[in-house]
Amino acid sequence: MMEPSLAGKRVVVTGAGKGIGRATAKALLACGAEVIAVTRTQSDLDSLVQESPKIMTICVDLANWEATENALKDIGPVDLLVNNAAIGIVGPFLEVSQEAFDQLFNVNVKALFHVSQIIAKGMKCHGAGGAIVNVSSQASQRALKDHTVYCATKSAADMLTKVMALELGPHKIRVNAVNPTVVMTAMGQMAWSDPIKSAGMLSRIPLGRFAEIEDVVNAIIFLLSDKSAMINGAILPVDGGFLAS
Ligand code: NAP
Repeated sequence: MMEPSLAGKRVVVTGAGKGIGRATAKALLACGAEVIAVTRTQSDLDSLVQESPKIMTICVDLANWEATENALKDIGPVDLLVNNAAIGIVGPFLEVSQEAFDQLFNVNVKALFHVSQIIAKGMKCHGAGGAIVNVSSQASQRALKDHTVYCATKSAADMLTKVMALELGPHKIRVNAVNPTVVMTAMGQMAWSDPIKSAGMLSRIPLGRFAEIEDVVNAIIFLLSDKSAMINGAILPVDGGFLAS
């Protein structure tokens, strides 16, 4: 595929240590962007830099408000942001603990909000516009068994996307979400490796397969690039048709 050129763009990717975020960071580098990978496990950043020496790294737990503020305050001008970091904790509604509830909302919602606020303030001051992509999920719009709080965090991510699009649009900052179906990353395996569960989900996906990491990365790159210059506040399923049914 012909990659859109992102030469000269500085991009921040959160949760870039593993899975979709790691692949996104590498793909953005291949598009010519200057990539800053943010995650909380240093060994993941070390191996990423070994594979792609041009990638810059920041190690921080985004659930920690002050640490995030400190880690990102001197980041300099940023053109593009991918809010990808999130966690999944599954279990029956009646058994969800306060701790699990708080962890999920702290990472999946509060950190997404906070990182966006810091980076968007910088984008506004810089005056060159920008684009933000939030990695949400099909779980934002369908009830999935044992995913109570995860589903709620992704619904919140969708609405943050829309309100950010509304308020940041006048500063020429576009904000969109991608909403993948299951992807067999570490997170996907945690929730969907049981063949009976995964067969039930697969039967609801018209294309009959889960998403590959590349399917999600392609959608993210499209929404970051000028190819989507008039798309703002969109919630883009990458789900083989799951949400259409
Ligand atoms: P993953 O393989 O678990 O990777 C998530 C990355 O985010 C890891 O590098 C993780 O670091 C990092 N991260 C988590 N919490 C963090 C924190 N507090 N501070 C900094 N970094 C943090 O997950 P994935 O499957 O690639 O998921 C990426 C995104 O896609 C998430 O938003 C997820 O909700 C969404 N999504 C995934 C699926 C799926 O089936 N996989 C489907 C729909 C949507 P550590 O490993 O060090 O914690």
